[in-house]
Amino acid sequence: TQTPPYQVTDPATGEVTETFPYATDAEVEQALSAATEAFAAWKRRPVAERAAIVKRVAELFTERAADLAALITKEMGKRPAQAQGEAEFCTAIFDYYADNGPALLADRPLPGHDAARVEYLPVGAVLGVMPWNYPYYQVARFAAPALVVGNTVIVKHAENCPTSALAIAQIMKDAGVPEGVYTNIFATHEQVADMIADPRLRGVSLTGSERAGTVVAAQAGRNLKKVVLELGGSDPYIILDTPDVEDAAETAWGTRMENVGQACNSNKRMIVMDSVYDDFVAALVKRAASMTPRPAGDDSDDTYSPMVSRKAAENLLAQVQDAVSKGATLHVGGTLGGGNGAYFAPAVLTGVTPDMRAYKEELFGPVAVVYKVSSDDEAVNLANVVDFGLGGAVWSADEDRATRVAEQLEVGMANVNTPAGEGADLPFGGTKRSGFGRELGPLGIDEFVNKRLFYVQ
Ligand code: NAP
Repeated sequence: TQTPPYQVTDPATGEVTETFPYATDAEVEQALSAATEAFAAWKRRPVAERAAIVKRVAELFTERAADLAALITKEMGKRPAQAQGEAEFCTAIFDYYADNGPALLADRPLPGHDAARVEYLPVGAVLGVMPWNYPYYQVARFAAPALVVGNTVIVKHAENCPTSALAIAQIMKDAGVPEGVYTNIFATHEQVADMIADPRLRGVSLTGSERAGTVVAAQAGRNLKKVVLELGGSDPYIILDTPDVEDAAETAWGTRMENVGQACNSNKRMIVMDSVYDDFVAALVKRAASMTPRPAGDDSDDTYSPMVSRKAAENLLAQVQDAVSKGATLHVGGTLGGGNGAYFAPAVLTGVTPDMRAYKEELFGPVAVVYKVSSDDEAVNLANVVDFGLGGAVWSADEDRATRVAEQLEVGMANVNTPAGEGADLPFGGTKRSGFGRELGPLGIDEFVNKRLFYVQ
């Protein structure tokens, strides 16, 4: 069994403030049987009724945004304004599926066959295994479409997010989601495996690391269960040219620092044309040097929050030290604060070469790696060299040029002259080792459905 159990640990100090025991096997059994029993009635409710309940879920995320934000600031250190923004974005996601779900799930005619149609039917109980970096948003992406479709949902959240996990379950209850239709469970990894093996569970969606993805995908494969994987990334951020280097650096830095660098689609590799490289690095270093640790309650742009945990910060430090020991240049930052907190001074790293961990691994924290290139082709090759394929962005005053480069990126989300297109209505997901399947937008409701051919002779 894993240790420790689900607990809230203050990332600023390492102090454990709340602990929750793992679920018992009887509770896991109860979750599965409740989800199965509830499915029988939930799938028969008219889709408009399910959507109306999901609409109420959407309202509650905004009504409770301030309280929800405070919970994740405590659990994983998110800046208060970003935390509140995350809770409010969940409203947009639940709204999107409440408003658009019924039309997206309507029968599709099949051209040339008057008597045939494709129906979009729920599959049953589905499990979401969720990460701590966006504790509300990740669950919303998975649960909102599933509930509108008519599936029942079991969520196993990250072990450091027990209070936000419970707050989501409370919202579901208060919105009128029936018992068994949404269940939070503090499961162990073994219990996740047991649930996936259980015939009553019909699918699993995991957002998290490549490591967890391979384990859960193997379990799903052995049991012939549909799986959606939203895994890590090391997104390229290509600057071909810019009329304003300071501004370009500020935007790149702001994007990299969101959530203290702990975002799957963060611009982890900045690939910069030699004509602007020196000025870009100088501006980035200056910006990084201006950052100070964030005291409790402070929310200014010149401060940085602790990372999620001391352990995560130490892992990042080891990746940076590996690069430096092999000849990379650490321009600024890259040090850990004292005590048991997880303050990692934002860093800028250049001179990274293929023999270094930082070249191909994901750097899940506040480190900007900058590469110099001298042609568009070189930029594309470097962008595609990693095994990940989540997102990518290309910048140029010449939009056609940036578009030609972006079209060559092996990613699930390609962006031109913007860090990332984001919205409840825009599909999110990756290719290569960043996973498969999509969340959000019209594609996000397509994953856990039985697309039944219905043919009347
Ligand atoms: P993680 O360690 O993989 O954890 C994610 C979830 O998987 C947690 O609930 C975790 O539970 C669970 N888990 C881990 N190993 C498991 C196993 N063997 N069996 C069952 N469940 C298991 O990832 P993380 O460190 O929390 O999250 C960061 C990673 O997520 C990064 O790589 C990031 O890029 C990726 N991410 C991807 C997306 C996307 O949309 N593509 C979005 C956000 C994050 P425990 O807490 O109990 O270990």
